[in-house]
Amino acid sequence: MLTFKNRTALVTGAGRGIGKAIAETLAGQGVTVVCVSKSADSCGAVAAAITAAGGKAKALAVDVADGAAVAKAAEQLLAEFPAIDILVNNAGITRDGLLFRMSAEDWDSVIATNLSSCFHWTKHLARPMTRARWGRIVNMASVSGIMGNAGQANYSAAKAGMIGLTKTLAREFASRSITVNAVAPGFIKTDMTTEFVNNAEVSAKILEAVPLRRFGEAADIANLTAFLCSEEAGYITGQVFSVDGGMAM
Ligand code: NAP
Repeated sequence: MLTFKNRTALVTGAGRGIGKAIAETLAGQGVTVVCVSKSADSCGAVAAAITAAGGKAKALAVDVADGAAVAKAAEQLLAEFPAIDILVNNAGITRDGLLFRMSAEDWDSVIATNLSSCFHWTKHLARPMTRARWGRIVNMASVSGIMGNAGQANYSAAKAGMIGLTKTLAREFASRSITVNAVAPGFIKTDMTTEFVNNAEVSAKILEAVPLRRFGEAADIANLTAFLCSEEAGYITGQVFSVDGGMAM
């Protein structure tokens, strides 16, 4: 068991995949979890499953790409909960294509959903953390933000941006005992990667670049994220942790 002192967490993209695993793992450690996703159905199902298992959770459908919607949701949450102590910026999308074929709309939507969302949530939720002099922020980056990836100019720019944001906020918030770290997954089996994982030819090609020669599980990311949110990780900040089977070493 990790140590969590009656904490409340907000996890974006908690309706499926990695975010769902993070929400469930934190809830299993006694953390109250606000599960955010775009559709009410997906975060609702996760929050209901956590509650049915004896945990504490609330579902919240918010489009994280919409700064005004995030501001409104954050205001309501801070009126309802004494504090949001832990923020996991995990929601993300891909809109892949080589640069000459990438539309401005696909560029904008990936930057807004994956990167600007972190700015908006952090701006609204970190102020009470600074007053409480305790907080944990984990941003879900990607191996693509470290190495680049042909066909993902929008996505790798957003993920590299999250890494810069992580390091800057770690410096800004350190004096208030708020840690800010990034996790950079490699290829993890979720809805985002089903298309590659289920194609034998494509997956064999991908795994050539993965020293451990297998895809990761959402739990691999959730376990590290939960640790980074715990009391035990209080001396770790401004770091980027690759969980990628050795891809980016
Ligand atoms: P996923 O299975 O596709 O789930 C994405 C989640 O994000 C869903 O719950 C979705 O909500 C939510 N979301 C997307 N756009 C949103 C929006 N505008 N507003 C609110 N919620 C939104 O993805 P995943 O594989 O778990 O990925 C999670 C994170 O890890 C992403 O940031 C991704 O870039 C990163 N990552 C994943 C991999 C991988 O191999 N899977 C690798 C590197 C990094 P709905 O449920 O309502 O659709």
